[in-house]
Amino acid sequence: MKPLGDAIARAYEMVRPCTVCGNWDTQDPCSICTDETRDKTVICCVQDVSDVWALERARAHRGLYHVLGGVISPLDGVGPDDLRLRELTERAGQPAVLEVVLALPATVDGQTTAHYASERLEGLGVTITGMARGVPVGGELDVLDEGTLAAALKARRPL
Ligand SMILES: [Zn+2]
Repeated sequence: MKPLGDAIARAYEMVRPCTVCGNWDTQDPCSICTDETRDKTVICCVQDVSDVWALERARAHRGLYHVLGGVISPLDGVGPDDLRLRELTERAGQPAVLEVVLALPATVDGQTTAHYASERLEGLGVTITGMARGVPVGGELDVLDEGTLAAALKARRPL
């Protein structure tokens, strides 16, 4: 167990939040922010670092990230000032940035946060987008909840 414990302790000491995007890495700015091959025109805004890793595993996004560090939640006492929203607005205001994807949870708190963030980003000259909602890959319709079914049908597109 000791080598494992030592490795965890070493990782704990070396890993820190990226001062640009909020991702965790052993370097600051993180390896995503400093990767010259990434598309610097698109920032994908997520709730937590685990969302960055999920999107990276899926190879779904080749742009940059911005970790908010939570969502607005009056019940939990989390307000806009507790999140990295000001930093997002500053980054989105840079001329190189053309789009901000608000990839936030499909919950009341997540959508409240997305709405608040999009209002703050308005007027900066960036396209503000959100995640599509609907039928999961490999999913059957008759097992989906009503909210997902309704959202999927509403977001239908020509084939
Ligand atoms: Zn970073």
